[in-house]
Amino acid sequence: MPAKILIPTPLRPYAGKNAEVQVTGSTIAEVMENLTAQHNGLRRHLFTDDGRLRSFVNVYVNEQDIRYLQKEATAISDKDVISIVPSIAGGSPAAAAEPPVKLSNDEVLRYSRHLIMPEVGMEGQLKLKKAKVLLIGTGGLGSPMALYLGAAGVGTIGLVDFDVVDFTNLQRQIAHGTKDVGRPKMESARARLADINPEVKVIGFETRLDSSNAMEILKDFDIVADGTDNFPTRYLVNDASVLLGKPNVYASIFRFEGQASVFGMPDGPCYRCLYPEPPPPGLVPSCAEGGVLGILPGLLGVIQATEVIKLILGAGEPLVNRLLLVDALAMSFRELKLRKNPECPICGPNRTIHKLIDYEQFCGIRGEEFVEEIAVPEITVQELKVRMDRKDDFVLVDVREPHEYQICHLNGTLIPLGDLPSRVHELNSADDIVVHCRSGVRSGKAVDFLRKAGFRKVKNLKGGILAWSDQIDPSVPKY
Ligand code: ZN
Repeated sequence: MPAKILIPTPLRPYAGKNAEVQVTGSTIAEVMENLTAQHNGLRRHLFTDDGRLRSFVNVYVNEQDIRYLQKEATAISDKDVISIVPSIAGGSPAAAAEPPVKLSNDEVLRYSRHLIMPEVGMEGQLKLKKAKVLLIGTGGLGSPMALYLGAAGVGTIGLVDFDVVDFTNLQRQIAHGTKDVGRPKMESARARLADINPEVKVIGFETRLDSSNAMEILKDFDIVADGTDNFPTRYLVNDASVLLGKPNVYASIFRFEGQASVFGMPDGPCYRCLYPEPPPPGLVPSCAEGGVLGILPGLLGVIQATEVIKLILGAGEPLVNRLLLVDALAMSFRELKLRKNPECPICGPNRTIHKLIDYEQFCGIRGEEFVEEIAVPEITVQELKVRMDRKDDFVLVDVREPHEYQICHLNGTLIPLGDLPSRVHELNSADDIVVHCRSGVRSGKAVDFLRKAGFRKVKNLKGGILAWSDQIDPSVPKY
């Protein structure tokens, strides 16, 4: 016999736009089966793949919730009115009618170690699936973040990177493999993520993040995680996330030490509250110049990933108003209290920065390039080879560090750049001098210093020992 079913607004597009449908059946199970036979589009909204009524859909017979009656076996008469009442989180009917996020049986199995934890559970796993996290960089910090966030089931991961995989990256950038050398990092990270978890949607931005594209790239993500290795991008990421009101999960690393925090939360500081201005260029060496323990970005990247997951789940105490300092050599974790700076130019009440600026200029990078353009006399590796073969009378000075000399050398006299002022008396300004380092930058500074000290016959080896290895003697290892 026919029963009357009331269709709620969000589901009407799937029931021929009807508010009411007449369906025959003698039990609630039969009625529901016949309803979805008539209107097939309703099925996925009402039932799971294995045929159970979805947990966020309630069915009432008259005023009674069938969960309190005899479930689907409840007998139906033609006087009964059946109401379908889905949970609605507000918003427009169109939004409510979007397919609800749910886990497939494969996903339930994949995430089972999460699902049995009360702190995550089905609710938390669905939050992870709905979350959109943007990783700036797929290098040392970005690699472990991408791998663990992908494995954990974060539904959408954005990756920003324009670099290609270099052989020297492999010591720490574990999203990339030996076979990926020379390949865009975006491609290799994407392939690695697809292997770890094909459920993850990866959105790639193979571009250099800058003031012209940052707002557009960041705007659709819930959380930004900063895996950059340079100050201009770090300030850019901070400012863009503050302007867009998004949490910025931060870490940075150097040699054996790292720091981490969560910036850009309503009740917490931003990166500029902590460091209003960048250090002068050259004061803090980059990883390429100063080195980094390969494990360290793993340690810090996993701390960042942990904070991202906690923010998504709304669980625990986020690293807000706190700066975590990690010293891997001592294996010590210290914590400093941070406070929002009321004078902060971007998150303070009297902010002076209302849109993104030129971050290269802000960090003095352009100025440094200008200084480096002050030319010093140079010699090429080919010219040096000729002079060596002729056994010319000249002094070769190596201004690298002793541990670099151990990796490779050209039999030069070792005087590290920092020791040059106190050891300049060891050199004779009457001699022909060629100065070299790894790439030619430090030796350029040394030549500039020596010329100011009165040395006239001093030249810089262009390209340093790297150029020597490339163009003269490949048996000299590059580092
Ligand atoms: Zn601030």
